[in-house]
Amino acid sequence: MEAHRTLLVRLPKDKCDVDYIKRLMALTNLAYRGFEVWVPDIPKTVQHQLYGFKNYMRSLVLGTVPKRWFVRAWIPSKILRVYQDGSRKGDKSAPVVLDLKNNVIKIRWVCKNEISIPMPDWVVNWIDERVREGGDVRFAMIGLKDNEPYLALTAEREVKPHVPSDYILVVDVNSWRYGISWGLIRNSEIVSHKQEGINLGKYYRLYDEVVRLEKKYGALKRLGLHKTVEGSRLWSEIKILRMRLYAITRDRAYFLASKLARKALRYRALLVIDDMIEESRRELLEEKLPPDVIKLLMSNLKRFVHQLETLAQWYGVPYKFKRLPSTVCPICGSELTQLPGRIMVCENCGFKAPRDKVPMYWAIKLTHFNIVNN
Ligand SMILES: [Zn+2]
Repeated sequence: MEAHRTLLVRLPKDKCDVDYIKRLMALTNLAYRGFEVWVPDIPKTVQHQLYGFKNYMRSLVLGTVPKRWFVRAWIPSKILRVYQDGSRKGDKSAPVVLDLKNNVIKIRWVCKNEISIPMPDWVVNWIDERVREGGDVRFAMIGLKDNEPYLALTAEREVKPHVPSDYILVVDVNSWRYGISWGLIRNSEIVSHKQEGINLGKYYRLYDEVVRLEKKYGALKRLGLHKTVEGSRLWSEIKILRMRLYAITRDRAYFLASKLARKALRYRALLVIDDMIEESRRELLEEKLPPDVIKLLMSNLKRFVHQLETLAQWYGVPYKFKRLPSTVCPICGSELTQLPGRIMVCENCGFKAPRDKVPMYWAIKLTHFNIVNN
């Protein structure tokens, strides 16, 4: 199986011709749909590259078929790699050159003029790590995100999932209010268990600050003063705080996905993921939280699941998505009653456990009947 991982690198806007990239993106969309349109004023080399991708474009991580006509698709490209020892790998006429000897990224044709940018350390480290893991950075994509040019590097690795040991790592995706809980199971026992979250107090305080500033901005707007120096300053402050708010859960999601994938790898465990995010949303609705706060508490959870899956594939961790209920008794199947402190009890058979541990008991039950492994 081929596994992929992707890294986004922002390109300097002043060195790229954004309109030209837009034209190439439109051409890419046509290529996805099986049309070959040869445009006279665009170099043949880059068009050959584009149409050369037709057969294996779908295998690229970002290469999902655009949903609508004329939507802009990112331009796929091969990569020529120049390694530290001077050896080269890849297509010589590739538009993207990763020069690891001089730590430079060169892009030809796609940004119109040839551009050459220094490769930041974090990019060098990322490439080194992927190569050390037995992968190679073979493909790239260039496109616009919020009208800013970006280069996406895609590493590819041939990997075979390991044969699971007797460990199972269960990951139950919950809202950030209760965090993501995981449990390591062996021989029908929970060996270790943890709820991983964010600093909720800090998160709420930052959100309150955003709400407060937005109210202030709203008041200015009603007076027609939002375009003043004060108004614009306030607006940019709101934007920065919103980004910071979003970054808290995004960074945590990436951190946890990496931690859990590596844990599964270390124990050679089977990874079982319950991604019933809707159930968590319902729980928050039942607690009568405002929609804005619910949205906040659900942010980046899908990203977490996607990243966990990507990493599981990359490291060859066998994984499964399994529905593991937290409100149904794993012993007798009765509906559980929730007590204060999120303790769940079964009035039928007496089962009792913290709500976040119930999915782990379900996983034990399912392995006992060998349902998880099948
Ligand atoms: Zn029961």
